[in-house]
Order: sequence, then structure tokens, then C-alpha cells
Amino acid sequence: MATNRTFTMLKPDAVENGHMGKIIDMIINAGFEVKAMKYTRLTEEQAKEFYAVHAERPFYGELVEYMTSGPIVAAILEKDNAVADFRALIGATDPAEAADGTIRKLYAESKGRNAVHGSDSDENAEIEGKFHFGENEIF
Ligand code: UDP
Ligand code: MG
Repeated sequence: MATNRTFTMLKPDAVENGHMGKIIDMIINAGFEVKAMKYTRLTEEQAKEFYAVHAERPFYGELVEYMTSGPIVAAILEKDNAVADFRALIGATDPAEAADGTIRKLYAESKGRNAVHGSDSDENAEIEGKFHFGENEIF
């Protein structure tokens, strides 16, 4: 995957609360091109693997439970400076600390149930994109 791509998930709270369309609209209006997108649901095994880096953190069990609690939308997005620009668009992990106008400020319920995921590096964007979409012609 090129360095102008990032990976996102609209998390179960965002889908459940009916914010899917508004969030996708914000992403497209911010200049991201959708390269791949799917409506899906994580198994417990997939959620554990996706968040394995947090396995020792106290919130890990709750995070896995939340991320498997309902459907999500997974997507690969393309834009110049995609990883950093997307992190700016979603805002801080905790909506109480997220800047005005960011997706998390507008739509996250809490630090845990925070509406959206964004990769934190080009390397993780590639790993996470492949985790959800496999090695195929998209990349
Ligand atoms: N999380 C949580 N409690 C915390 C920190 C994180 O429940 O104190 C959850 C939250 O859903 C977050 C995810 O774990 O989005 C991954 O955490 P990370 O620190 O990587 O935040 P992100 O990169 O998503 O901003
Ligand atoms: Mg992270």
C-alpha cells in the first residue's frame, strides 16, 4: 500500500446510532477517496488480533466486547498525507479532548465508544488494510 493511504473503521456505536452516512460524508468532503469499503462484523478472534497491541491494557476486554457488539464499516482511504490528515479529521481518542468539528467531537459517546478508528502510521495502515481486505488488486 502506498503511503497516501489510511485505514478506518466506523465502530459499532457510530453504526448503531445512525451516524454512518454523516461520517462517510465528512470523510469524502475532507478530500479522502474511498478505495475499498465493507459493512461487516468482527469476530472476537478478529477484534483481539486487531487490537493485540493493547492486550495488556486494562480496557482490552471491554474494547474487544465493544468492537464485536455490532456491525462496523471498514474502509481504505486515499489522500495526500492520509494518515496524519485522517487523525486530524477524527480528533483525539477521548471526545472530551477532541477539537471542535472533528468526527469524535461530534459523534463519539466516550473515550471507549469513540465512533471511528484511524491508523496511526503508514505501516499500520497497510497492516490494518490487509487485515480487513486481504492481499488483492486494491493494493
Ligand atoms: N480505548 C479505551 N480506553 C482508553 C484508551 C483507548 O477504551 O483509555 C479504546 C478506544 O476505543 C480507542 C482504542 O481503545 O480508540 C484504541 O486506543 P488508542 O490509544 O490506539 O486510540 P486511537 O488510536 O483509537 O485514538
Ligand atoms: Mg490507535
